[in-house]
Amino acid sequence: MKPILRKFLPPAAMLAVAALLFGAALLRNRQPQEPVSRTELSLNTVVTVTLYDGQDESLLDRCMDLCGAYEQMFSRTLEGSEISRLNRGETDTLSPDAQALLSEGLRYSALSDGAFDLTVGAVSSLWDFSSGEGEVPDPAAIAAALPTVGWEKVELNGDRISLPAGTQIDPGAIAKGYIADRLKEFLQENGVESAIIDLGGNVLCISGRPDGTPFRIGVRRPFSDASDSMVILEVDGRSVVTSGVYERYFEEDGVLYHHLLDPETGYPCDSGLLSVTILSDSSAEGDALSTACFVLGLEKGMELAVSAGVEAIFIDENYELHFTPGFSTPYTLPE
Ligand code: ADP
Ligand code: MG
Repeated sequence: MKPILRKFLPPAAMLAVAALLFGAALLRNRQPQEPVSRTELSLNTVVTVTLYDGQDESLLDRCMDLCGAYEQMFSRTLEGSEISRLNRGETDTLSPDAQALLSEGLRYSALSDGAFDLTVGAVSSLWDFSSGEGEVPDPAAIAAALPTVGWEKVELNGDRISLPAGTQIDPGAIAKGYIADRLKEFLQENGVESAIIDLGGNVLCISGRPDGTPFRIGVRRPFSDASDSMVILEVDGRSVVTSGVYERYFEEDGVLYHHLLDPETGYPCDSGLLSVTILSDSSAEGDALSTACFVLGLEKGMELAVSAGVEAIFIDENYELHFTPGFSTPYTLPE
């Protein structure tokens, strides 16, 4: 306290002034911090991690490093990745992460009766939905690749895996969810209590905002801007994953060819849907189920979502919304 104040104030008043100054300092410290955020191209998509309750940017660096490391492990296209070596028959022993990813992938393949099929790789690698120069593959090549698809022919025992000749693993429909779960674990172990992990629209929340309100996560209007939502969900700690036809596609002769394949035909699945969004605790589960439910279509997809105990929103070809029965996550429908 300034000497001039000390001179003129009696001790009780001095105490009161000290308490006021102390209180003001406390209040200042309780002001909400600005979130810190990092966006990078990784995992073949745009990755954004935002921390709402801390400003430790080194955690953001570590998240981006983790994405890079997982890409080196799980990419189907990088030559040196563990999945590529497995697909070329150069290894039959899995790292702990690959073992966990593939055993989850096989579990959802079984659960969805092959609508999601982890072994769709020989077919999916014939299609190019990303470069902007995609063309419909030669039907003979698709017919030749189809017999290699079949999750039930994969043998996984501990860290040992055996694939039939020609069978190719494609972890693309579950890997981002798995990686989001690992980033969440990493951030929580480092004390983060409020964050959003967004791997190209595959969103996983750590709790809600620091003031206790939930995060607001939009379900995109198909083919519209990312900011144009058909539903806005209030999400606390959960994963929100969407599989939509508008995410990766090309057009040929007026027909839209999208990246969600029917493992039985090898062609984009015509399930009468535009997107499926899954709300779940685990993002790997949401990722696998969003693809599976899309391929199964509205009726069977709804049954799978209900039996798996997740909440889901289906958007059909007429832009009609369909919610799982008893949908309990609060939401609003923007005008
Ligand atoms: P996104 O990658 O756009 O988030 P998904 O999680 O639904 O979408 O995954 C789609 C990717 O998964 C495709 O690009 C393809 O590599 C692979 N895939 C496509 N159809 C299937 C399927 N029926 N089962 C398993 N994987 C699939
Ligand atoms: Mg998926």
